[in-house]
Amino acid sequence: MTLNNVVVVGASAAGLTAAEALRREGYAGKLTMIGAEKHFPYDRPPLSKQVLAGTWEADRVTLRQDDALSTLDAEWLLGTEATGLDVAARSVRLADGRVLDYDGLVIATGVTPRQLPFGHELAGVHTLRTRDDSLRLRADLVPGRNLVIVGAGFLGAETAAVARELGLTVTLVDPLPAPMIRQFGAEIGGALADLHAEHGVRLELNAGVAGLSGVGGRVSGVALTDGRTLPADVVLVAIGAVPNTGWLADTGLSLGNGVDCDEQCQAAPGIVAAGDVASWVHPDLGTRIRVEHRMNATEQGIAAANTLLGNGKPFAPIPYFWTDQYDVKIQAYGTFPPDTELSIVDGSPSEGKFTAEYRRGDRIFGVLGWNMPKQTRALRARALATPVA
Ligand SMILES: Cc1cc2nc3c(=O)[nH]c(=O)nc-3n(C[C@H](O)[C@H](O)[C@H](O)COP(=O)(O)OP(=O)(O)OC[C@H]3O[C@@H](n4cnc5c(N)ncnc54)[C@H](O)[C@@H]3O)c2cc1C
Repeated sequence: MTLNNVVVVGASAAGLTAAEALRREGYAGKLTMIGAEKHFPYDRPPLSKQVLAGTWEADRVTLRQDDALSTLDAEWLLGTEATGLDVAARSVRLADGRVLDYDGLVIATGVTPRQLPFGHELAGVHTLRTRDDSLRLRADLVPGRNLVIVGAGFLGAETAAVARELGLTVTLVDPLPAPMIRQFGAEIGGALADLHAEHGVRLELNAGVAGLSGVGGRVSGVALTDGRTLPADVVLVAIGAVPNTGWLADTGLSLGNGVDCDEQCQAAPGIVAAGDVASWVHPDLGTRIRVEHRMNATEQGIAAANTLLGNGKPFAPIPYFWTDQYDVKIQAYGTFPPDTELSIVDGSPSEGKFTAEYRRGDRIFGVLGWNMPKQTRALRARALATPVA
Protein backbone atom coordinates (compact mmCIF):
# COMPACT_ATOMS: atom_id res chain seq x y z
CA MET A 1 0.00 0.00 0.00
CA THR A 2 1.36 3.44 -0.90
CA LEU A 3 1.46 5.73 2.10
CA ASN A 4 0.02 9.23 1.94
CA ASN A 5 -0.62 10.15 5.55
CA VAL A 6 1.85 9.24 8.29
CA VAL A 7 1.36 10.22 11.92
CA VAL A 8 4.28 10.03 14.35
CA VAL A 9 3.35 10.02 18.04
CA GLY A 10 6.29 11.11 20.21
CA ALA A 11 8.34 14.04 18.90
CA SER A 12 11.73 13.11 20.29
CA ALA A 13 14.82 11.21 19.15
CA ALA A 14 13.10 8.12 17.74
CA GLY A 15 10.11 9.95 16.25
CA LEU A 16 12.30 12.60 14.60
CA THR A 17 14.66 10.02 13.15
CA ALA A 18 11.78 7.97 11.80
CA ALA A 19 10.31 11.08 10.15
CA GLU A 20 13.65 12.03 8.61
CA ALA A 21 14.17 8.48 7.35
CA LEU A 22 10.72 8.48 5.73
CA ARG A 23 11.55 11.65 3.81
CA ARG A 24 15.03 10.42 2.90
CA GLU A 25 13.52 7.26 1.48
CA GLY A 26 11.21 9.30 -0.73
CA TYR A 27 7.99 9.50 1.27
CA ALA A 28 6.29 12.65 -0.03
CA GLY A 29 2.89 12.47 1.68
CA LYS A 30 1.47 14.23 4.72
CA LEU A 31 3.54 13.95 7.90
CA THR A 32 2.21 14.89 11.33
CA MET A 33 4.36 14.96 14.46
CA ILE A 34 2.50 14.77 17.78
CA GLY A 35 4.47 15.59 20.92
CA ALA A 36 3.24 15.88 24.50
CA GLU A 37 6.08 18.27 25.34
CA LYS A 38 6.05 21.83 24.07
CA HIS A 39 9.65 21.61 22.83
CA PHE A 40 10.86 20.57 19.41
CA PRO A 41 12.95 17.38 19.61
CA TYR A 42 15.93 17.62 21.94
CA ASP A 43 18.62 15.34 23.27
CA ARG A 44 18.25 13.85 26.75
CA PRO A 45 21.75 12.56 27.66
CA PRO A 46 23.13 16.05 28.44
CA LEU A 47 20.25 16.59 30.89
CA SER A 48 22.06 14.54 33.56
CA LYS A 49 25.50 15.79 32.50
CA GLN A 50 26.29 19.20 30.95
CA VAL A 51 22.88 20.84 31.44
CA LEU A 52 22.65 19.66 35.04
CA ALA A 53 26.22 20.79 35.69
CA GLY A 54 25.36 24.20 34.21
CA THR A 55 28.13 24.01 31.60
CA TRP A 56 25.59 23.99 28.72
CA GLU A 57 22.64 26.28 28.18
CA ALA A 58 19.48 24.18 27.84
CA ASP A 59 18.98 25.36 24.22
CA ARG A 60 22.09 23.50 23.19
CA VAL A 61 20.25 20.17 23.46
CA THR A 62 17.97 21.03 20.52
CA LEU A 63 18.36 18.23 17.98
CA ARG A 64 17.59 20.17 14.76
CA GLN A 65 17.73 23.83 13.86
CA ASP A 66 14.79 25.60 12.17
CA ASP A 67 16.00 25.03 8.60
CA ALA A 68 16.28 21.26 9.11
CA LEU A 69 12.84 21.19 10.71
CA SER A 70 11.26 23.08 7.85
CA THR A 71 12.94 20.80 5.29
CA LEU A 72 11.13 17.94 6.96
CA ASP A 73 7.86 19.50 5.82
CA ALA A 74 5.84 18.17 8.76
CA GLU A 75 2.97 19.55 10.75
CA TRP A 76 4.01 19.77 14.41
CA LEU A 77 1.36 19.37 17.08
CA LEU A 78 3.44 20.08 20.19
CA GLY A 79 2.08 20.27 23.72
CA THR A 80 -0.49 17.79 22.43
CA GLU A 81 -1.00 14.33 23.87
CA ALA A 82 -2.36 11.35 21.98
CA THR A 83 -4.95 9.70 24.22
CA GLY A 84 -6.27 6.85 22.12
CA LEU A 85 -5.83 4.75 19.02
CA ASP A 86 -8.40 2.98 16.84
CA VAL A 87 -6.44 0.31 15.00
CA ALA A 88 -9.34 -0.76 12.75
CA ALA A 89 -10.31 2.80 11.78
CA ARG A 90 -6.64 3.86 11.55
CA SER A 91 -7.04 6.97 13.65
CA VAL A 92 -5.37 8.61 16.65
CA ARG A 93 -7.37 10.54 19.24
CA LEU A 94 -5.83 13.65 20.81
CA ALA A 95 -6.37 15.10 24.27
CA ASP A 96 -8.13 18.12 22.76
CA GLY A 97 -10.73 15.85 21.15
CA ARG A 98 -9.38 15.92 17.61
CA VAL A 99 -9.15 12.64 15.72
CA LEU A 100 -6.38 12.23 13.14
CA ASP A 101 -6.60 9.59 10.44
CA TYR A 102 -3.44 7.88 9.28
CA ASP A 103 -2.39 5.20 6.85
CA GLY A 104 0.96 4.75 8.60
CA LEU A 105 1.64 5.23 12.31
CA VAL A 106 4.96 5.49 14.17
CA ILE A 107 4.73 5.00 17.93
CA ALA A 108 7.71 6.65 19.64
CA THR A 109 6.33 7.72 23.00
CA GLY A 110 9.32 6.77 25.14
CA VAL A 111 9.13 6.16 28.86
CA THR A 112 8.18 8.00 32.07
CA PRO A 113 10.18 7.87 35.32
CA ARG A 114 8.83 5.42 37.86
CA GLN A 115 7.82 7.10 41.11
CA LEU A 116 7.94 6.04 44.74
CA PRO A 117 4.50 5.30 46.17
CA PHE A 118 4.93 8.30 48.48
CA GLY A 119 6.46 11.73 48.82
CA HIS A 120 6.35 13.17 45.31
CA GLU A 121 4.03 15.97 46.41
CA LEU A 122 6.84 17.47 48.53
CA ALA A 123 8.88 20.36 47.12
CA GLY A 124 12.47 19.31 46.48
CA VAL A 125 11.54 15.80 45.30
CA HIS A 126 12.49 15.30 41.64
CA THR A 127 12.48 12.83 38.80
CA LEU A 128 14.63 13.43 35.72
CA ARG A 129 13.43 12.85 32.18
CA THR A 130 12.73 16.14 30.46
CA ARG A 131 14.54 19.37 29.79
CA ASP A 132 12.24 21.08 32.29
CA ASP A 133 12.99 18.39 34.91
CA SER A 134 16.71 19.01 34.46
CA LEU A 135 16.39 22.78 34.90
CA ARG A 136 14.19 22.34 37.99
CA LEU A 137 16.67 19.92 39.57
CA ARG A 138 19.59 22.15 38.59
CA ALA A 139 17.97 25.09 40.40
CA ASP A 140 17.73 22.95 43.55
CA LEU A 141 21.38 21.80 43.46
CA VAL A 142 22.66 24.52 45.77
CA PRO A 143 26.18 23.95 47.19
CA GLY A 144 26.09 22.70 50.77
CA ARG A 145 22.66 21.11 50.49
CA ASN A 146 22.01 17.45 51.25
CA LEU A 147 20.99 15.56 48.12
CA VAL A 148 19.68 12.03 48.54
CA ILE A 149 19.43 10.02 45.33
CA VAL A 150 17.13 7.03 45.44
CA GLY A 151 18.33 4.55 42.84
CA ALA A 152 21.93 3.97 41.76
CA GLY A 153 21.35 3.26 38.07
CA PHE A 154 23.02 5.44 35.44
CA LEU A 155 20.78 8.47 36.09
CA GLY A 156 21.35 8.36 39.84
CA ALA A 157 25.08 7.76 39.46
CA GLU A 158 25.55 10.54 36.89
CA THR A 159 23.59 12.98 39.03
CA ALA A 160 25.66 12.04 42.09
CA ALA A 161 28.83 12.90 40.16
CA VAL A 162 27.48 16.27 38.98
CA ALA A 163 26.16 17.18 42.42
CA ARG A 164 29.45 16.36 44.14
CA GLU A 165 31.26 18.58 41.65
CA LEU A 166 28.74 21.34 42.46
CA GLY A 167 29.53 21.02 46.17
CA LEU A 168 26.52 19.20 47.57
CA THR A 169 26.59 16.47 50.16
CA VAL A 170 25.38 13.42 48.26
CA THR A 171 23.97 10.10 49.45
CA LEU A 172 23.20 7.36 46.94
CA VAL A 173 20.66 4.80 48.14
CA ASP A 174 19.96 1.48 46.43
CA PRO A 175 18.59 -1.91 47.50
CA LEU A 176 21.41 -3.65 45.58
CA PRO A 177 25.03 -3.92 46.75
CA ALA A 178 26.56 -1.58 44.13
CA PRO A 179 25.68 1.13 41.58
CA MET A 180 24.62 0.04 38.07
CA ILE A 181 24.85 -3.60 39.06
CA ARG A 182 21.68 -4.35 37.08
CA GLN A 183 23.29 -3.04 33.92
CA PHE A 184 26.86 -4.28 34.22
CA GLY A 185 27.19 -6.75 37.08
CA ALA A 186 29.08 -6.89 40.36
CA GLU A 187 32.64 -6.11 39.16
CA ILE A 188 31.78 -2.88 37.35
CA GLY A 189 29.31 -2.04 40.11
CA GLY A 190 32.10 -2.44 42.68
CA ALA A 191 34.43 -0.21 40.65
CA LEU A 192 31.70 2.44 40.46
CA ALA A 193 31.06 2.18 44.20
CA ASP A 194 34.79 2.86 44.78
CA LEU A 195 34.74 5.75 42.31
CA HIS A 196 31.81 7.44 44.03
CA ALA A 197 33.22 6.80 47.51
CA GLU A 198 36.55 8.37 46.42
CA HIS A 199 34.60 11.46 45.39
CA GLY A 200 32.89 11.69 48.76
CA VAL A 201 29.49 10.20 47.93
CA ARG A 202 27.93 8.41 50.86
CA LEU A 203 26.74 5.04 49.68
CA GLU A 204 23.73 3.48 51.37
CA LEU A 205 23.67 0.15 49.56
CA ASN A 206 21.52 -2.88 50.35
CA ALA A 207 19.15 -0.23 51.70
CA GLY A 208 15.41 0.22 51.21
CA VAL A 209 13.46 3.47 51.36
CA ALA A 210 10.43 3.42 53.64
CA GLY A 211 9.19 6.98 53.24
CA LEU A 212 9.96 10.66 52.69
CA SER A 213 9.39 13.22 55.42
CA GLY A 214 8.84 16.93 55.02
CA VAL A 215 8.66 20.21 56.87
CA GLY A 216 6.38 22.97 55.63
CA GLY A 217 5.70 21.09 52.41
CA ARG A 218 9.39 20.64 51.55
CA VAL A 219 11.29 17.39 51.83
CA SER A 220 13.50 17.10 54.91
CA GLY A 221 14.43 13.43 55.14
CA VAL A 222 14.48 9.99 53.58
CA ALA A 223 13.46 7.20 55.94
CA LEU A 224 15.25 3.90 55.38
CA THR A 225 13.71 0.51 56.11
CA ASP A 226 16.33 -0.10 58.84
CA GLY A 227 14.79 2.77 60.86
CA ARG A 228 17.36 5.49 60.12
CA THR A 229 16.43 8.79 58.47
CA LEU A 230 18.84 10.53 56.09
CA PRO A 231 18.63 14.33 56.15
CA ALA A 232 17.59 15.63 52.72
CA ASP A 233 17.08 19.09 51.25
CA VAL A 234 16.70 17.64 47.76
CA VAL A 235 15.75 14.13 46.63
CA LEU A 236 16.13 12.62 43.17
CA VAL A 237 14.04 9.51 42.60
CA ALA A 238 15.81 7.54 39.83
CA ILE A 239 14.30 4.07 40.04
CA GLY A 240 13.77 3.27 36.39
CA ALA A 241 11.03 4.09 33.93
CA VAL A 242 7.86 2.66 32.48
CA PRO A 243 6.91 2.67 28.78
CA ASN A 244 4.33 5.29 27.75
CA THR A 245 1.66 2.90 26.52
CA GLY A 246 -1.35 4.05 28.58
CA TRP A 247 -2.90 5.65 25.48
CA LEU A 248 -2.74 2.28 23.72
CA ALA A 249 -4.72 0.30 26.30
CA ASP A 250 -7.54 -1.80 24.84
CA THR A 251 -6.39 -1.29 21.25
CA GLY A 252 -5.53 -4.94 20.66
CA LEU A 253 -1.81 -4.13 20.41
CA SER A 254 0.36 -6.38 22.54
CA LEU A 255 1.82 -4.32 25.39
CA GLY A 256 3.81 -6.92 27.32
CA ASN A 257 7.13 -5.07 27.37
CA GLY A 258 6.29 -1.65 25.96
CA VAL A 259 4.85 -1.96 22.46
CA ASP A 260 5.66 -5.53 21.38
CA CYS A 261 6.88 -5.60 17.78
CA ASP A 262 8.12 -8.26 15.42
CA GLU A 263 11.72 -8.46 14.19
CA GLN A 264 11.07 -5.56 11.81
CA CYS A 265 9.63 -3.22 14.48
CA GLN A 266 6.06 -3.71 13.27
CA ALA A 267 3.36 -3.83 15.95
CA ALA A 268 0.41 -4.35 13.56
CA PRO A 269 -0.15 -3.72 9.85
CA GLY A 270 0.58 -0.04 9.22
CA ILE A 271 1.90 0.47 12.77
CA VAL A 272 5.56 0.47 13.78
CA ALA A 273 7.26 1.44 17.04
CA ALA A 274 10.74 2.71 17.86
CA GLY A 275 12.92 3.86 20.73
CA ASP A 276 12.51 3.35 24.46
CA VAL A 277 8.84 2.36 24.13
CA ALA A 278 9.40 -0.48 21.66
CA SER A 279 10.34 -4.08 22.27
CA TRP A 280 11.21 -6.39 19.43
CA VAL A 281 12.62 -9.83 18.88
CA HIS A 282 16.31 -9.29 18.24
CA PRO A 283 17.14 -11.76 15.47
CA ASP A 284 20.68 -12.52 16.68
CA LEU A 285 19.65 -12.95 20.30
CA GLY A 286 16.40 -14.76 19.59
CA THR A 287 14.75 -12.95 22.49
CA ARG A 288 12.50 -9.93 22.90
CA ILE A 289 14.37 -6.88 24.17
CA ARG A 290 13.56 -3.25 24.83
CA VAL A 291 16.49 -0.84 24.89
CA GLU A 292 16.44 2.54 26.68
CA HIS A 293 19.56 3.93 25.00
CA ARG A 294 20.02 7.00 22.86
CA MET A 295 21.68 5.29 19.90
CA ASN A 296 18.90 2.73 19.72
CA ALA A 297 16.30 5.49 19.36
CA THR A 298 18.06 6.64 16.18
CA GLU A 299 18.75 3.22 14.73
CA GLN A 300 15.28 1.88 15.47
CA GLY A 301 13.61 5.03 14.15
CA ILE A 302 15.29 4.39 10.80
CA ALA A 303 14.44 0.68 10.85
CA ALA A 304 10.79 1.35 11.73
CA ALA A 305 10.44 3.93 8.94
CA ASN A 306 11.77 1.46 6.40
CA THR A 307 9.34 -1.18 7.60
CA LEU A 308 6.45 1.26 7.25
CA LEU A 309 7.53 1.93 3.66
CA GLY A 310 7.61 -1.79 2.89
CA ASN A 311 11.42 -1.97 2.83
CA GLY A 312 11.80 -3.54 6.26
CA LYS A 313 14.39 -6.02 7.35
CA PRO A 314 15.08 -7.64 10.72
CA PHE A 315 16.42 -5.02 13.13
CA ALA A 316 19.69 -6.43 14.46
CA PRO A 317 21.71 -3.64 16.07
CA ILE A 318 24.55 -4.02 18.53
CA PRO A 319 23.05 -1.93 21.36
CA TYR A 320 25.35 0.92 22.44
CA PHE A 321 25.28 2.84 25.70
CA TRP A 322 27.62 5.32 27.35
CA THR A 323 27.77 7.06 30.68
CA ASP A 324 30.06 9.81 32.03
CA GLN A 325 30.77 10.03 35.75
CA TYR A 326 33.51 12.41 37.02
CA ASP A 327 36.43 11.82 34.65
CA VAL A 328 35.32 8.26 33.84
CA LYS A 329 33.71 7.48 30.50
CA ILE A 330 32.15 4.07 30.11
CA GLN A 331 31.14 2.70 26.71
CA ALA A 332 29.20 -0.51 26.38
CA TYR A 333 28.24 -2.49 23.28
CA GLY A 334 25.92 -5.48 23.25
CA THR A 335 24.02 -6.98 26.15
CA PHE A 336 25.11 -7.86 29.67
CA PRO A 337 22.99 -10.73 30.99
CA PRO A 338 23.54 -11.55 34.68
CA ASP A 339 24.76 -15.06 33.90
CA THR A 340 27.72 -13.86 31.80
CA GLU A 341 31.25 -13.63 33.17
CA LEU A 342 33.44 -10.58 32.86
CA SER A 343 37.02 -10.95 31.69
CA ILE A 344 39.46 -8.08 31.21
CA VAL A 345 40.83 -7.75 27.68
CA ASP A 346 43.14 -4.77 27.95
CA GLY A 347 44.36 -2.46 30.72
CA SER A 348 43.28 -3.00 34.32
CA PRO A 349 40.94 -1.50 36.90
CA SER A 350 43.96 -0.45 39.00
CA GLU A 351 45.28 1.65 36.05
CA GLY A 352 41.88 3.34 35.80
CA LYS A 353 41.36 2.15 32.22
CA PHE A 354 40.40 -1.19 30.81
CA THR A 355 38.23 -3.05 28.34
CA ALA A 356 36.27 -6.16 29.27
CA GLU A 357 34.17 -8.83 27.59
CA TYR A 358 31.07 -10.47 29.03
CA ARG A 359 31.02 -14.17 28.11
CA ARG A 360 28.77 -17.14 28.58
CA GLY A 361 30.48 -20.34 27.50
CA ASP A 362 32.12 -19.70 24.15
CA ARG A 363 30.01 -16.63 23.32
CA ILE A 364 30.61 -12.94 23.91
CA PHE A 365 27.47 -10.94 24.66
CA GLY A 366 28.87 -7.51 25.46
CA VAL A 367 32.04 -5.46 25.59
CA LEU A 368 32.62 -2.62 28.00
CA GLY A 369 35.32 0.01 28.16
CA TRP A 370 36.36 2.17 31.10
CA ASN A 371 38.24 5.22 29.81
CA MET A 372 39.34 3.33 26.68
CA PRO A 373 36.91 4.49 23.98
CA LYS A 374 39.06 3.69 20.94
CA GLN A 375 39.92 0.20 22.12
CA THR A 376 36.29 -0.45 23.09
CA ARG A 377 35.07 0.58 19.64
CA ALA A 378 37.56 -1.85 18.13
CA LEU A 379 35.97 -4.68 20.14
CA ARG A 380 32.43 -3.69 19.16
CA ALA A 381 32.09 -6.27 16.43
CA ARG A 382 32.74 -9.04 18.97
CA ALA A 383 29.66 -8.09 21.03
CA LEU A 384 26.33 -9.91 20.74
CA ALA A 385 26.84 -13.58 20.96
CA THR A 386 29.77 -13.89 18.60
CA PRO A 387 31.58 -17.19 19.07
CA VAL A 388 34.98 -16.60 20.64
CA ALA A 389 37.63 -16.95 17.93
C1 LIG B 1 18.62 12.41 31.79
C2 LIG B 1 18.86 11.32 30.78
C3 LIG B 1 20.17 10.98 30.45
C4 LIG B 1 20.41 9.97 29.53
N1 LIG B 1 21.71 9.64 29.24
C5 LIG B 1 21.95 8.64 28.36
C6 LIG B 1 23.29 8.28 28.06
O1 LIG B 1 24.25 8.81 28.61
N2 LIG B 1 23.48 7.30 27.14
C7 LIG B 1 22.44 6.67 26.50
O2 LIG B 1 22.67 5.77 25.67
N3 LIG B 1 21.15 7.00 26.78
C8 LIG B 1 20.89 7.96 27.69
N4 LIG B 1 19.59 8.31 27.97
C9 LIG B 1 18.49 7.61 27.29
C10 LIG B 1 18.08 8.29 25.97
O3 LIG B 1 17.96 9.65 26.13
C11 LIG B 1 16.78 7.67 25.50
O4 LIG B 1 17.06 6.33 25.15
C12 LIG B 1 16.16 8.41 24.30
O5 LIG B 1 15.79 9.71 24.65
C13 LIG B 1 14.92 7.65 23.82
O6 LIG B 1 14.30 8.38 22.81
P1 LIG B 1 12.77 8.13 22.44
O7 LIG B 1 12.49 9.08 21.31
O8 LIG B 1 12.52 6.69 22.28
O9 LIG B 1 11.95 8.53 23.74
P2 LIG B 1 11.83 9.92 24.49
O10 LIG B 1 13.08 10.71 24.28
O11 LIG B 1 11.40 9.62 25.87
O12 LIG B 1 10.66 10.66 23.74
C14 LIG B 1 9.33 10.28 23.79
C15 LIG B 1 8.49 11.52 23.58
O13 LIG B 1 7.13 11.12 23.42
C16 LIG B 1 6.31 12.01 24.13
N5 LIG B 1 5.05 11.34 24.46
C17 LIG B 1 4.83 10.36 25.39
N6 LIG B 1 3.53 9.98 25.40
C18 LIG B 1 2.91 10.72 24.45
C19 LIG B 1 1.58 10.78 23.98
N7 LIG B 1 0.63 9.99 24.47
N8 LIG B 1 1.30 11.68 23.01
C20 LIG B 1 2.27 12.48 22.48
N9 LIG B 1 3.56 12.46 22.88
C21 LIG B 1 3.87 11.58 23.86
C22 LIG B 1 7.13 12.34 25.36
O14 LIG B 1 6.67 13.52 25.96
C23 LIG B 1 8.53 12.47 24.77
O15 LIG B 1 8.79 13.77 24.35
C24 LIG B 1 19.32 9.30 28.91
C25 LIG B 1 18.01 9.64 29.26
C26 LIG B 1 17.78 10.63 30.20
C27 LIG B 1 16.37 10.98 30.57
